[in-house]
Amino acid sequence: MKDKILVHICCGVDAVWALQKIKEEFPDSEIKGFFYDPNIHPEEEYELRWIETERICNALGIECIKGEYELGKWLEATKGYEHVPERGERCTICHDLRLKKTAQLAKKLGYNKITTVLMMSPKKDFDVLKEVGEKAAEKYGLEFVAIDFRKQGGVEKMNKLSKEFEIYHQNYCGCIYALFQQRKGLEYIPELVSFGKGRLPGSREELLFIKDIRTFAENEGISCTEQVFEFIGWKLISSTMKIRKEPVQHYVLPMSKSIKGILRGKVTKIEEKEDRFVLFLNKSNLQIWILKEPLKEIPLEEPRFFNHPIFIVGIDQKEKLSIGTKVEFTLKTEFDPDAKSQNLIIGNINAPEKIFFHSDTLSDGSFGYQPEEIKRKIKEEKEKILKGDLCLIITGAETLGKLGKLYFKENSQNTLYL
Ligand code: SF4
Repeated sequence: MKDKILVHICCGVDAVWALQKIKEEFPDSEIKGFFYDPNIHPEEEYELRWIETERICNALGIECIKGEYELGKWLEATKGYEHVPERGERCTICHDLRLKKTAQLAKKLGYNKITTVLMMSPKKDFDVLKEVGEKAAEKYGLEFVAIDFRKQGGVEKMNKLSKEFEIYHQNYCGCIYALFQQRKGLEYIPELVSFGKGRLPGSREELLFIKDIRTFAENEGISCTEQVFEFIGWKLISSTMKIRKEPVQHYVLPMSKSIKGILRGKVTKIEEKEDRFVLFLNKSNLQIWILKEPLKEIPLEEPRFFNHPIFIVGIDQKEKLSIGTKVEFTLKTEFDPDAKSQNLIIGNINAPEKIFFHSDTLSDGSFGYQPEEIKRKIKEEKEKILKGDLCLIITGAETLGKLGKLYFKENSQNTLYL
């Protein structure tokens, strides 16, 4: 009888070499993937790892089933082990939960063997995985295939392939407890914080958008490449603005520096510009911009580096702000020196015609594209893209001063369209 192997998959990076190794070792077997990882936190990270897993499985011609995101079940199972270090009892429970579910599904689908690409990770204990896997398989009358994928240069092959496939490489195992332990001392944990409803530059949401479009384009047979670039990220933690002690709605211009304590001052000068009034204070170099329209967030037209705070209000505040008006502010922002974003190139980068989109949005979700718009364009222009006559480019960090476009310009010979 032909062997049927159900492979538990945790992420694209661990899967890319391990799946090829399984194919090599079991050339006559039927192989299917099973992405079951309720340990991953937050859900956007779970989705990102799934998208990358799906992309790799598609490229390797392996069907993959997406399991349910049963976070509650995982939290319940690991209760009491929150503070145990990585590779301890919590991890054993975590492996057990995932491999039992894999065995259960394998039984249901008529598969006779199970395995897991977790055995690829240098951070996991191979013997523990083997023991847990064997017990889970035995429970359902199956065989557990234990392969140490790391041997014979497996880790190097995995690293090489994940670079070639441009797979998203996470920097933590997956669960919230491991994250807390790794990020000790930080005021907030960037991985767990979604700022606003949009896809901010360098955020997981922005990356998820890119990966989703990439999977779509590749399923249409179009080759894609990514250009990853680093920049200094900025995040607003909190802000308040008061005019004569009354709180007012406002936005803060990106790259504004924090204010120590409370800043109280008086308006001393007002300059009129084409689209706004700029107000200066008697103290500090803080500015207030009164838009000549209702309040809205503004994307940066060009890069702005660590700079004086700028508070933005709508035209409805014009009457309240004049020379001598008392104002007060608080502002807490964070800079991230290791922020990363990416450009996605769909088709041949040297195509004579290029169409640009961008992946990020403002924090309220405005100033951006819906994935459907870009997918529709890919479908409509598929023939032209495949012929090499047209290339679609999705740039990142547009709202922080068109950083992705600038990077593309510096790193591509053809700058005609910028
Ligand atoms: S550290 Fe990794 S293996 Fe251990 S419990 Fe967390 S997610 Fe599971």
